[in-house]
Amino acid sequence: MKVNMNIEDDTLIEQINKEITNKKLLLLSLLKEVASIPSPTGSEQQKMLFLKKKLKEIDITASIDSIGNCIAKLPAKKTKSKKTILVVAHADTACDPGKDHKITEDAKYIYGHGVCDNSAGVTALLSIISLIKKYKITFSNDLIFVFTVGEEGLGGKRGMKQIIKDYGSRIDAVVNIESHHIGRVTNQVIGQYRSELLIDTKMGGHSFRDFGRPNANVVLAQIISDFSCFKLPKTKEKTTFNFGQIKGEGSINAIAKNSSCLFEIRSENNETLKKAKQTFKLILEKYRKLHPDIEITENVSVEVPAVIFPSSHRIYKITMDVQKKLGIASKINAGNTDGDVSLAKGIPTVTIGTSEGWNTHSLNEYMDKKLFHLGIKQAFGVVYAVASSY
Ligand SMILES: [Zn+2]
Repeated sequence: MKVNMNIEDDTLIEQINKEITNKKLLLLSLLKEVASIPSPTGSEQQKMLFLKKKLKEIDITASIDSIGNCIAKLPAKKTKSKKTILVVAHADTACDPGKDHKITEDAKYIYGHGVCDNSAGVTALLSIISLIKKYKITFSNDLIFVFTVGEEGLGGKRGMKQIIKDYGSRIDAVVNIESHHIGRVTNQVIGQYRSELLIDTKMGGHSFRDFGRPNANVVLAQIISDFSCFKLPKTKEKTTFNFGQIKGEGSINAIAKNSSCLFEIRSENNETLKKAKQTFKLILEKYRKLHPDIEITENVSVEVPAVIFPSSHRIYKITMDVQKKLGIASKINAGNTDGDVSLAKGIPTVTIGTSEGWNTHSLNEYMDKKLFHLGIKQAFGVVYAVASSY
């Protein structure tokens, strides 16, 4: 597909790519600055104030919305048929890095929680806005830039949901800037079901004297064991499940009164997702009947259907065209990101990666240094092409 970009665009992009190459080290130090401010899901305020301040320094007025997203807008130059393009990067991180949070580096890598996911995306978006400002670029489409809260884990994409609620009806396309992998072109949402399971026996007791009373840890273990025996339907699409953060009360000689865990199912197939969810609910029902006095509660935090947008859609063509020019190998894939929310609403959305990282969602996260400037060039190129020719 031919993207409507002319020689002037190409010259400008070349100039900007040169600048990104020259500023490699500065961009890495901005990344370290972003990553050094902790922003675990639910506690992103400090990071958002930092981003707002960074934008203020380049004379961009950003606002923080009711749930903490940081938003900046770039109106289109006057045209008849303007569209609205949303560009997002999530600013929260999966874990709380704690008081000893430090970012370190060696010749090849940068280390520390959140360096890649998603300080890489956040730094790329900051750089894009700053380049647009520096080169006084205006587009034929309106642009809304958002650093979102609550993308990870139990955040349930709450920041992005708020943005789609507030602006969704006028958004024509979304570019979502993520961490890894560089070259990804995410056009699919993996269906997802997430909940917290709580067992409360309302009793507890002495392990010897009160033996025979229900034990919340045992009931939880039985539920987990029953579900783990469930044979997932065989389809070509992938389906997975996971139990995490299993917590139980009691001690070596005390019967547990409460226990809990986190539960997740992911599937590329909506039928399988439904079947797995029903099976889980039937197992809970079985234990509720078996122990009428025990409270078995499930708090559902995420329910997302599987969605696939055709990879032939122009937003993916535009993205792959930019990647090709930069020598990046494109890879169409599925994911769970802020892009889920807009894809589920039928808004064309592309999620791209800006770097290579490992052990993401852990405190031992690290990121490759040498690819980052290429990731920023790609992100700038995609935003530029979508903003000018969508
Ligand atoms: Zn991420």
